[in-house]
Amino acid sequence: MSFTLHVDATRWRANAKAVHDRTPGIVPVVKGNGYGFGKQHLALETAALGADSIAVGTYAEAPEVLEHFPGSVQVLSPWRPFLRDVIYDERLVHTVGRVVDLPELAAASPVGTRVIAEAGTSMARHGFDRHAFAAASAALGHLDLDGLAIHLPMAGSNLSEADNLAAALQASRLQTTTIYVSHLTDAELAVLRERRPELDVRPRIGTSLWLGDRGALTVNAQVLDRHQVSRGERIGYRQHAMPRDGHLLIVSGGTAHGVGLEAPSGASGVRQRATSIAKGGLDAAGLALSPFVVGGKQRWFAEPPHMQASMLFLPHTVTPPAIGESITAGVRFTTTHFDAIEFA
Ligand SMILES: *Cc1c(COP(=O)(O)O)cnc(C)c1O
Repeated sequence: MSFTLHVDATRWRANAKAVHDRTPGIVPVVKGNGYGFGKQHLALETAALGADSIAVGTYAEAPEVLEHFPGSVQVLSPWRPFLRDVIYDERLVHTVGRVVDLPELAAASPVGTRVIAEAGTSMARHGFDRHAFAAASAALGHLDLDGLAIHLPMAGSNLSEADNLAAALQASRLQTTTIYVSHLTDAELAVLRERRPELDVRPRIGTSLWLGDRGALTVNAQVLDRHQVSRGERIGYRQHAMPRDGHLLIVSGGTAHGVGLEAPSGASGVRQRATSIAKGGLDAAGLALSPFVVGGKQRWFAEPPHMQASMLFLPHTVTPPAIGESITAGVRFTTTHFDAIEFA
């Protein structure tokens, strides 16, 4: 059984190289499930691109990337005294965002341990308030400051916030001229670089680098079984009655792969849902839209997905694929685990 990601490697690498080449100082982000590709694979791709730094989400993710990438490995999640899995390595760069943590980190770590100071932004996630920059600078001790991180929201225009923090850095005693920025457009980066020529602006990028050309990626599920069903016939763990005559398809890909764990993007809008109910659509019959595509359309789950497989309902008007045929699926890569990834 397999739920597989097929990568058109030439096309996929061309996108990554284009993003890398037009973004000086880029720090590729390879956190979580490695954007669907796996962190080890992206670590090797990052090394091949020639980047000197890479970013992971957590300490737990760091060893795998340290092993396969020869440069600096930044941990995006901040150091805290209560974390049990912190590792120290001369190539690992910690993120700090609270003055109280600095003496404790300094005491726990070798001389010259590298840190990035995260600035608090409108994200309101982690980071030093700009008024704490002086206190942070005084508390660094033997820690080696690599830069200031500015993590911005995805919504709205972020340029003025980034520029204000860059100005606050330059006016502060923090001894660095590097800023690591997230979620600025190419145009915003260009303006920031022009306004702050003394600063080295280094963008941290994952999605557009690894998932910027969706056309290079195809997700395939296999039809494992197929059954003809009649309206009213009961099927599955929950013994749902089928809304019409048609076919059941049992396809590879279930909750263990991350299928069905988020609102599928198709008919999720309120207006589309209303239209569907008005037309007597299958969500009016209590079915949910699946990410699996047959005959060019997303199809309905006959019941909620199982761990390793999903049951789909196909109305009798649709020609069902044969057992053993592959169908495609539109998934969210950052929450999907594939049985296999094939580069061709
Ligand atoms: C995840 C993350 C990024 C990368 O975000 P993308 O949207 O995948 O490019 C950058 N910076 C920080 C701090 C992050 O947590």
